[in-house]
Amino acid sequence: MNGLALFELNKALLLDAEDPFPSRRDEFFIPPTGAPHFRTQECLYFTGNSLGLQPRKAREALTTELDDWAQFGVEGHFQAKHPWVSYHERFARGLTHLVGAQPHEVVAMNALTVNLHLLLVSFYRPEGRRKKIICEAKAFPSDQYALASQVRYHGGNPEEDIIEIGARPGTHAIDEADVEAALAEHAGEVALVMMGGMQYFTGQWLDMPRIVKAAHSEGALCGFDLAHAVGNVPLKLHDWNVDFACWCSYKYLNSGPGAVAGAFVHERHVKEEDIPRFEGWWGHNAQRRFLMESQFDSMGTAEAWQMSNAPVLNMAVHAIALDQFVQAGMDNLRSKSLRLTAYLEAGIQAVAKANDVHLEIITPQDPARRGCQLSLVAHGFGKQLFERLTDAGVVVDWREPNVIRMAPVPMYNTFEDIARFVNVLKLSTAKAPLNA
Ligand SMILES: *Cc1c(COP(=O)(O)O)cnc(C)c1O
Repeated sequence: MNGLALFELNKALLLDAEDPFPSRRDEFFIPPTGAPHFRTQECLYFTGNSLGLQPRKAREALTTELDDWAQFGVEGHFQAKHPWVSYHERFARGLTHLVGAQPHEVVAMNALTVNLHLLLVSFYRPEGRRKKIICEAKAFPSDQYALASQVRYHGGNPEEDIIEIGARPGTHAIDEADVEAALAEHAGEVALVMMGGMQYFTGQWLDMPRIVKAAHSEGALCGFDLAHAVGNVPLKLHDWNVDFACWCSYKYLNSGPGAVAGAFVHERHVKEEDIPRFEGWWGHNAQRRFLMESQFDSMGTAEAWQMSNAPVLNMAVHAIALDQFVQAGMDNLRSKSLRLTAYLEAGIQAVAKANDVHLEIITPQDPARRGCQLSLVAHGFGKQLFERLTDAGVVVDWREPNVIRMAPVPMYNTFEDIARFVNVLKLSTAKAPLNA
């Protein structure tokens, strides 16, 4: 390490010590690394956008449910510390905080793509000329498959009925004006605008309220996949008039691989009597659920979309992970996130300058148009840079064809992590080969 790097590290330690929002790093397991030249045994984890780290309380949360099952058997539905019969109600507080919703507008259930399909059943209702969906180009593949298969399910042709909005040539971010233009161009033909609130590849945060307004003014409904937005940026789904949204909980929400996902349905839709919906007994009026009536009596809340009883073992970690967000406060996390991401951005720019290499950040520069993730194209390095970083104990991710995504997560990443990363990046992009 050279003198400049040491100086930066000292500065980073000071920034950590003086930050108004102290890191909650100690509440998580930081995976170890085997990299021998690394001072610390902990890796530099910047992949919370893909799989959040394990909260230290996760094991106890799971053990509680296993113990209650052992102790009570079926009676655990009522006798467990957190009775399983109403288990999903544990999530209302955390979810309303995270997405800006009323308690009757959110529900934790299923998995993300499943929820997307269930919501499309209700909110993609092609009729006559009005059957098109506007979405982002290069959406996460699962979302592309979901939308295309829904169109085909309704007898439509995805080639004609799905309009993709991409970045203009020479740019990386979607211009919201292009969504408005597409709505105007296809006036009377768009049934639904459905986009990723935070684009998973570039890390662009779309102007969600603007898109909702545009969709509604053209008579279309508007929904968002919030996989990369929830727990990353503050959301106000209710006030923004979003019709529906879904998200997963294993990325920024730290709830564990494949953990239970979430859904939002705006209150103006939750009581709609004749809304098309796939229904099951857990969406039935809770007071009468065990009367085993043959006629469905809707909960009249977002829970009406819930079909099955709660997968308690899958949900146990989600509960404590959400508590951490409520305790930390999404606004505090966002302000810390702005500081961390700006620091990372400045570090990458400094390395590019010092080493005279082209490190292009394709995430919008304007902090209001992004969350914590930065997507980097290291021109001339290809996947080799990613491999060098990995060898040095840095955990970032590689997305074909040429992007390294990294996210300094305000819940557990520190300025120190970033300074250490910047040093590794500097060594890894030096003109001389790494091991010379
Ligand atoms: C992570 C992610 C998914 C993953 O879907 P699962 O159903 O949870 O496997 C889907 N869509 C987007 C936009 C994502 O970021």
